[in-house]
Amino acid sequence: SLAGKTAVITGSNSGIGLGIAQQLAKAGADVVLNSFTDRDEDHALAAEIAADYGVTARYIKADMSKGDECRMLIEKAGRCDILVNNAGIQHVAPIDEFPMEKWDAIIAINMNSAFHTTAAALPKMREAGWGRVINVASAHGLTASPFKSAYVAAKHGVVGMSKVIALETAEEPITCNAVCPGYVLTPLVEAQIPDTMAKYNMGREEVIKKVMLERQPSREFATVEQLGGTVAFLCSDAAAQITGTSISVDGGWTAL
Ligand code: NAD
Repeated sequence: SLAGKTAVITGSNSGIGLGIAQQLAKAGADVVLNSFTDRDEDHALAAEIAADYGVTARYIKADMSKGDECRMLIEKAGRCDILVNNAGIQHVAPIDEFPMEKWDAIIAINMNSAFHTTAAALPKMREAGWGRVINVASAHGLTASPFKSAYVAAKHGVVGMSKVIALETAEEPITCNAVCPGYVLTPLVEAQIPDTMAKYNMGREEVIKKVMLERQPSREFATVEQLGGTVAFLCSDAAAQITGTSISVDGGWTAL
């Protein structure tokens, strides 16, 4: 059980981050949700998790594109036994047309934030004598696709940074790993289905299997519950010697 541990999950008011928060709460951890907004519904998500799982859950606003806010999130959390760096955005364009501000935002949110939060969290983990850093990278942390230069660069960076954090903590009861999802059915992905159906003049199932999951041999989306379960496993005693590696949850994508 993760009772008594506090997990901070960046970018967790939707999708995979929220799924991870739910699974960690289910395993008994107190959770800190985060995004850059400060709406009633953000705080309501935390209240819902607290009610569902009988843990303490808070929502803390912090913009992961800003280094000082990343560090402030960890300070405001108080304890931080489990750090899940999950916040991320995407932009798709050829490299010679890639907007500079999109490049900077993707590198900041998808990669630099993990540096800042980890730097702030490690002293707390050392003080507590236990810690887990889990970076949500991507199949694009291990392979590439055209038109995703910033995303692929950031995710490869996160996979590399995870190895360094693992080496710097290797002799301590702290581990650091990357989790590399393939295509996951999040609200973001769900929203793309109607447009893609119209574009290819295909039905829902056909568009999912032939277009969206073209690179995912299982032809199934991974789910946020499966990602949450993988993160919970990395927090378990069974995973104490798993450090500096990446776990793919991608239906065979990276085996191709
Ligand atoms: P999502 O859009 O549902 O979630 C992204 C989260 O990041 C949201 O909570 C959003 O509010 C937050 N966020 C965005 N900008 C932020 C900022 N500046 N500060 C703080 N929070 C911010 O998408 P998702 O699919 O759940 O993605 C979560 C992570 O999983 C990302 O790192 C993404 O790259 C990765 N991923 C997703 C897939 C997929 O198929 N969905 C596949 C591989 C990797």
